[in-house]
Amino acid sequence: MAGQFRNIVILTGAGISAESGIDTFRSGADGGPSLWEQHRVEDVATPEAFARDPDLVHRFYDMRRAAIQTKVPNPAHDALARLDAQWSGELLIVTQNVDDLHERAGARRVVHMHGEHLKALCEACGVRSDWRGALIDRPPCPVCQARALRPDVVWFGEMPYRMGEIYAALRKADLFVSIGTSGAVYPAAGFVRDARQVGAATLELNLERSEGSGWFHETRLGPASALVPAWVEEMVGL
Ligand code: NAD
Repeated sequence: MAGQFRNIVILTGAGISAESGIDTFRSGADGGPSLWEQHRVEDVATPEAFARDPDLVHRFYDMRRAAIQTKVPNPAHDALARLDAQWSGELLIVTQNVDDLHERAGARRVVHMHGEHLKALCEACGVRSDWRGALIDRPPCPVCQARALRPDVVWFGEMPYRMGEIYAALRKADLFVSIGTSGAVYPAAGFVRDARQVGAATLELNLERSEGSGWFHETRLGPASALVPAWVEEMVGL
C-alpha cells in the first residue's frame, strides 16, 4: 500500500483507546455503561453546563483526568508511533481524544483538536497550563493566580483547536485514514469528504461501520489493536 502515498492524515477517536481501558462515548471499556452514559452530554460537556453546575463538571473531568493517568498505550498507539518515526513524508495524527496515549507511545506529529485532559485553561488569562491534579477545589492559575481554571477540553458548541493546520494537511493528503471513531461528531466527521475532494484515498479502521462509512474507499472491521499494527506493517514493514 505504501508506494503510492506520501502525505498522510490520520484521524483517531475514542475507539483507539478503548483497549487501553478508556471508555468510548457509547460503551464502557468493561462492556458496561460508560461514564458518558451515566451523564447527559448537555450536563457535562457544554459551556452552559459549566456555567450552571461547575462542581458537577469539575468532578466529571477530575475523575477522567485521574483515570487516564492509570492507563497505558495499546498496540494501536504503538504502531502509529512507529509509523510517525519511520514515515519520511508528511504525516499528521489528528486526534479527537483528550487522553495522552499517542504521546506516551512516542508519537510526535499529533494534534489534539478537542483539547487535552492533562491541561487546564485559565478563563482569566487564556493560558493553557500542564495539569495533572483536580480542579474542583479551584486552585489558582500558575500564570495569573486567578481561580478561574477549567478543563482544557473543547465542549459541544465550542471551536476545535488548530483547524487551519488540520485543513492545510487535508488539502495536501493523498491518504486519509480514520481509526476508532463513530463519525458522529463534526467537524471531524466531515474530514473524509474533504479528503475525497482533493483526490485522497480513504481507509476506515473501526470495530463497526461508522456513520460516514460509505465515504471511504475501503473499510476494515475489527479491534484497533489488531488492525492498526497490520496496516502500519503494510506501510513501513518492507
Ligand atoms: P465514539 O465513542 O463516538 O465512537 C467510538 C468508535 O470506536 C465507535 O465507532 C466504536 O465502534 C469504535 N470502537 C470501539 N472499540 C474499538 C476498538 N477496540 N477498536 C476499534 N474501534 C473501536 O468516539 P469518537 O468518535 O471519538 O467521539 C467523539 C467524542 O468523544 C470526541 O469528541 C472525544 O473528544 C470524546 N471522547 C474522547 C475519549 C478519549 O479521549 N479517549 C473517550 C470518550 C469520548
